[in-house]
Amino acid sequence: CGIVGYIGNKNAREVLIDGLDKLEYRGYDSAGMALLSEEELKVRKFKGRLSVLKENVEKENLYGNVGIGHTRWATHGEPSDVNSHPHTSENNNIAVIHNGIIENYIQLKEWLIKEHDIKFKSETDTEVIAHLINHFYNGDLLDAVYKAIDKMEGAYAIGVLCKQEPDKIIAVRKDSPLIVGIGKEENFIASDIPALLKYTRNVYLIENGEVVVLTKNDIKIYNELRQEVKREVYKVNWDV
Ligand code: GLU
Repeated sequence: CGIVGYIGNKNAREVLIDGLDKLEYRGYDSAGMALLSEEELKVRKFKGRLSVLKENVEKENLYGNVGIGHTRWATHGEPSDVNSHPHTSENNNIAVIHNGIIENYIQLKEWLIKEHDIKFKSETDTEVIAHLINHFYNGDLLDAVYKAIDKMEGAYAIGVLCKQEPDKIIAVRKDSPLIVGIGKEENFIASDIPALLKYTRNVYLIENGEVVVLTKNDIKIYNELRQEVKREVYKVNWDV
């Protein structure tokens, strides 16, 4: 029930574990992450405590400067390794983390199976998002994300990675919490401010319906009409 994302010069693995740890109060039954490095998308996810994920990714010294991490509170599909997030497209081009519920996932799933004969790996509502974005992907991740969310009903905060566009994270907020952390040559997303306080006190509070594109040196926020919006920096002057 928490999401964290990192893009910058550090090993994303450490930032994600650290951030997810701070979101533990939200409750969860499994944890996972996806890292991008040298155009390789590496996904690791496990049922159980965050420490299970942490031990596994540390043991193999998983590395990447871009990554998304998730703690899951299962709503659709039992807690298990396969049902944990991130979820990926069949060609492994897209990885998605999601908090919330996709209300029309059954219709989307049936449509995706009819259209592409997709073999779904999990029982989650979330997995449709990865296939849907991949369905619309034609060299422009932002465009694909907009086309996908147009079909999605429900509540979601999502983080998206794309192997073919390894210099960015795209995040969307609709009725689930999402903030952006502003760093120097690094940027972050998270469900909540405490996840990022170790790294930055400058954040953007993302509003419903907004889509965010993060690169190492830039953050762009767009509204539902795909227009760029300007946001004041919110300075966090409290501690947890
Ligand atoms: N509905 C999704 C699932 O069950 C996301 C749950 C969450 O917010 O952690 O996998």
